[in-house]
Amino acid sequence: MLKFPIYLDHAATTPCDPRVVEAMLPYFTQVYGNPGSRNHRFGWEAEEAVDRAREQCAALLGADAKEVIFTSGSTESNNLAIRGAAQMYEKAPAGSANRGHIITAVHEHKAVLDPCKRLQKEGFDVTFLEPPRDGIITAEAVQAAMRPDTILVSIMWANNEIGTINEVPRIGALCHDRDIIFHTDATQWVGKMPTNMETDNVDLLSFSGHKLYGPKGVGGLYVRRRRPRVRLVPLVDGGGQERGFRSGTLNVPGIVGLGKACEIAQQEMEKDGQRLLTLRKKLEDSVTSRLDTTQVNGHAEKRLPHITNISFGFVEGESLMMAIKEVACSSGSACTSASLEPSYVLKSLGVGDDLAHSSLRLSLGRWTTQDQVDYTADAIVKAVNKLRELSPLYDMHKEGIDLSKVEWAHH
Ligand SMILES: *Cc1c(COP(=O)(O)O)cnc(C)c1O
Repeated sequence: MLKFPIYLDHAATTPCDPRVVEAMLPYFTQVYGNPGSRNHRFGWEAEEAVDRAREQCAALLGADAKEVIFTSGSTESNNLAIRGAAQMYEKAPAGSANRGHIITAVHEHKAVLDPCKRLQKEGFDVTFLEPPRDGIITAEAVQAAMRPDTILVSIMWANNEIGTINEVPRIGALCHDRDIIFHTDATQWVGKMPTNMETDNVDLLSFSGHKLYGPKGVGGLYVRRRRPRVRLVPLVDGGGQERGFRSGTLNVPGIVGLGKACEIAQQEMEKDGQRLLTLRKKLEDSVTSRLDTTQVNGHAEKRLPHITNISFGFVEGESLMMAIKEVACSSGSACTSASLEPSYVLKSLGVGDDLAHSSLRLSLGRWTTQDQVDYTADAIVKAVNKLRELSPLYDMHKEGIDLSKVEWAHH
């Protein structure tokens, strides 16, 4: 039996795995010590739990436990990585005209774009790369933008709206050759795809609990300790926790949950990934084979297994969402769907305003079933057909009129 609504918005957040909740519970009421308390058992037990979680995160990342810094999530990790590295590696002090050059891309998450824009106001020069139609940032594109004064590159591993995968290990290799610090927002990647900090050439990597079946409000930043040893100016000063990178009493239950979520992901991601890939392809095929003027956005193969973004011509995304209320998904980005601007990510790929307005992001997860996917595909096909019945533009299109050549009367 299907239960409604069906949740297909795992790129916005995932439910917490019950095994994660179970692991967390003792740390609220029984093992409630402050891991910074060095003089008693309450503190030691909390510290042991944090150490274990750090090992679990490091194992998933292919890193050393000392390289994992706990934060409140990827927004904070991105800010700490980008602002912290820019200030540490700047070529000239605050107040100078060019404090250093930073490379990122226009279709990054706002939690990368906004810190970069603030740095721009503070005297750093920032290049925002434009992706090609397939959405992929290649090593060649980054290399072409590099300059002698480049200090930092921040390119996400996989895009949250379209699921496309950038050339992270190759971009990292370029940065290492030139002593440029390389950060990647890996929020959508970690826990879904294998990661190895030895061979992936990453210096700083952001990840978040609630995108990998862990709790909200906790995440981490990987900070490389060897070749090179990366230093950062902290955002928050205080008790000097987390090697001074991030002061503040640790969120012990959250950290325990994040660690458990990483452990489960490491064990299950391969099996989950294959299952979700099959389901996602079925969903895409089922919809695109039954509807014309429909496209899947972003590169066809270089993408995460569980995210798809589909545009439906002659249909308005918001109307479509209303018509399939029993399916919880996103139109455009979760973070921008409050405004009626078409998604900046889709626009950056050169998807026209009309198609960008008519897109749905469907993201599958650990408990998504074949029945849910079949139901969703049918619901979308039905809704699109119904909405198109009301569309005079769709009639004209079917009659073979080239709408781009029509001269509309202006009143
Ligand atoms: C969700 C997300 C973020 C923000 O993460 P929080 O942990 O919610 O702060 C940043 N980047 C990407 C790519 C995301 O998908």
